[in-house]
Amino acid sequence: SVRNNGTVECENVKVAVRVRPTTIKKDIDGEIADQSLTRPIYSMDPDLKGITLIKPNTTGNIVTKSFRFDRVFDKDATQLDLYKCTAFPIVDKVMRGYNGTIFAYGQTGTGKTYTMMGKENRIEDKGIVPNAFAHIFGQIAKYNEERSFVVTATYLEIYNEDVRDLLSQKQNVKLEVRERADLGVYVKGLMGFTIDSIDSLNELMRLGNRNRTTASTLMNRTSSRSHAIFTITVESKDKSDNRTTVAKLNLVDLAGSERLQKTRASGDRLREATNINQSLSVLGSVISALVDGKSTHVPYRNSKLTRLLQDSLGGNSKTAMIATVSPLKSDLEESICTLRYASRVK
Ligand code: ADP
Ligand code: MG
Repeated sequence: SVRNNGTVECENVKVAVRVRPTTIKKDIDGEIADQSLTRPIYSMDPDLKGITLIKPNTTGNIVTKSFRFDRVFDKDATQLDLYKCTAFPIVDKVMRGYNGTIFAYGQTGTGKTYTMMGKENRIEDKGIVPNAFAHIFGQIAKYNEERSFVVTATYLEIYNEDVRDLLSQKQNVKLEVRERADLGVYVKGLMGFTIDSIDSLNELMRLGNRNRTTASTLMNRTSSRSHAIFTITVESKDKSDNRTTVAKLNLVDLAGSERLQKTRASGDRLREATNINQSLSVLGSVISALVDGKSTHVPYRNSKLTRLLQDSLGGNSKTAMIATVSPLKSDLEESICTLRYASRVK
């Protein structure tokens, strides 16, 4: 329910945690080499709402930190479990005319891209994005008699506060963020594709993902340093009274949240890290201001990410954040940071 100042009650924001499996053969260099690092450093509540980090310290004592969320997913959770509990309710609402946004937040290598996109080869590895496509077109087929639908998709990347179109041939063009009374905040020149099938949406996702990798290689960085936003707009018209609703679904693979070692960062890397920190911290402030409901000022304008998502965060919009964490001892400090961030958002 909406309060009169436009902010939301907490049920519009859900936060889940997903722990990545320990053994991922040869995917991450050297990870499995040191067995002492692979001992689990967390435990989960049986009701799947809490996670406790176990921290062995120098004297052998164990210091624990516990966090509670809407839901926690252990390493053996399937992509479908995750979809059903986090994305399904949001996509369902999008089909009824509400905006929705799903974020994956976490350290690089913990499964953000796996969670959002998945892997191509096996059906069981399909992530939230392709599952959402199937869900949307399933609903369209179901309501075809009563309503007509137009689905459009855009896919962009934000790197160092510059916006690029992941579906355009011209990868090097930086696009401008503009605002207009009738359109709200928009990206000038961003390509929107009208989509009539699951296959063509999957094709666009693949194209964008390829462009994301290529662009980052050309710029001598990894794609984990950028935010990627896949947006699906569903416009539907009631065939009997011609009433139209428009809703947007934003699927966001955020830049890696890891903090850079201050001593090692300089030049481009430092600028990159500063921009990522800034935009992730603004995102945290925006969501917690919306959840809190008492803030009179929501700092949307302080980053491109929140500016672009402004009309899909708050109000009647539905938001889910999936915080991904590593099960490894060597990543414990980052895992604590991720869980702290995620619990602050809540
Ligand atoms: P990130 O996008 O956060 O940097 P990735 O999604 O690229 O992380 O994940 C790193 C590696 O771990 C990839 O090879 C990915 O397929 C694998 N992986 C991550 N999470 C899971 C999971 N839940 N189940 C199986 N493999 C996973
Ligand atoms: Mg990634």
